[in-house]
Amino acid sequence: MLYLVEHFYSIQGEGRYIGSPSVFFRFGGCNLKCEGFGCKEIAPDKTTILGCDTVYAVNKEHFSKNWVAISRVEELLSVLTQYDLPSKPVDIVLTGGEPLLNVNNKIFLEFLKTLHKKGHRVSFETNATINIDFEKYPIYKEFVFALSVKLCNSGEEIQKRVKGDVIYSITTNAKESFFKFSIDAESINLGLEDEIQSITMHSASTQVYCMPLGGNKEDVELNTPALIEFCKAKGYNFSDRLHIRIWDINKGV
Ligand code: SF4
Repeated sequence: MLYLVEHFYSIQGEGRYIGSPSVFFRFGGCNLKCEGFGCKEIAPDKTTILGCDTVYAVNKEHFSKNWVAISRVEELLSVLTQYDLPSKPVDIVLTGGEPLLNVNNKIFLEFLKTLHKKGHRVSFETNATINIDFEKYPIYKEFVFALSVKLCNSGEEIQKRVKGDVIYSITTNAKESFFKFSIDAESINLGLEDEIQSITMHSASTQVYCMPLGGNKEDVELNTPALIEFCKAKGYNFSDRLHIRIWDINKGV
């Protein structure tokens, strides 16, 4: 069983392919909580839940009522027929939660194979903590991986959020990958550079994109100027979070 939280056709709002028309599939569940990000959401049972900006796709206990349980690959593929897509293949972004929770799921694998056969560029937005068996499932070599490895501002323990062997495996096996970090202005003066290096050392030649942290437009804008200066000083790529800047906290656009 796997869970689909939402899907939408929009533009990619962040990372290397910012601006590309993309169909997003947001899968439910995550192996981390990232309560340090401090975003709050009210669950269907009226409980206020603390977590990241997609806590509604992370916390199964309180939000799964709103998730769709998928039992056939056709249920995922039919999503593509619901949008007025151009004739050429668009990007498909698999996000969450943590989409690689489904790494060995038969329906998920069938879905990936079909997308690849249809010529879509498939990107994973992953926290890079779940191992992929590239030999058993070589289809994963065909995809793009945005490695959103969590920093200490996530509130997660380092052993849980940084898996050097997984980072190395993905970056050496996948067709394309890049690091993507969410950064707040405050963290920049607190040894952030050392922290980023301790992660990127597992794949030193992989490009780094830094995005302003925040679940709403105000926070993203607040964190942007200092982050741009940080990127200029360190030679990292700045990535906007276009979807939040344009649509603020609205989901599914
Ligand atoms: S890893 Fe990503 S989706 Fe999971 S809790 Fe952290 S920020 Fe949210």
